[in-house]
Amino acid sequence: MLLTCPSCETIFRVDSQNLNADGQTVRCSVCSHLWFAVPPRSAGISLKKPKRVPTRGSKGLRVLLVLLLLLGALVGGVVHQRVVLTAYLPGLVPGYDLLGMTIRANIDKLEVINLKAAHTGDTLRLSGSLQNNSEFDTHAADLLVTVATTDGTIINEQMVMPDDRIIKAGGSTPFFLQLNVEKSAEAVVTVVPIAKRITR
Ligand SMILES: [Zn+2]
Repeated sequence: MLLTCPSCETIFRVDSQNLNADGQTVRCSVCSHLWFAVPPRSAGISLKKPKRVPTRGSKGLRVLLVLLLLLGALVGGVVHQRVVLTAYLPGLVPGYDLLGMTIRANIDKLEVINLKAAHTGDTLRLSGSLQNNSEFDTHAADLLVTVATTDGTIINEQMVMPDDRIIKAGGSTPFFLQLNVEKSAEAVVTVVPIAKRITR
């Protein structure tokens, strides 16, 4: 322990065991001043305080570390699951877009079903549904409709948006398109979901 002479302020290193536990009168070897010195143990608070602080500090640090790990996991999930997450919370899409994290419809899980084409002269009426085959709600994709002749020449190409922007898990949303196509009865129609960037 360290003792400081109250008179000349000289600091002495003293073995606390040589000092009476309840304190005792000591003499400064420099200025001969006499004073009553108390070892830190009987001073109570002065010893307890520095002992407790590091314990509390390291516990606090551990809690902080766990929180950071949880936060990391949360951020990781928020980044990797953003397509699913924004299907439930579409309001988050512009935020992700601002952060450069593009949201695209997951076309692997989307399927065009019930495709029907009705011809009236040069008018081709196209209808069908876009089905969500995933176990989560998902963003609907825009659909690229291609009309070609039997020899493969593309005569019309158009994007169509299905009725709903979000498709429930296992559900579907209808689409409809009307086109003017010469000799439409002979046309070959394909409808393909496109994973274009979703911005709203
Ligand atoms: Zn002194």
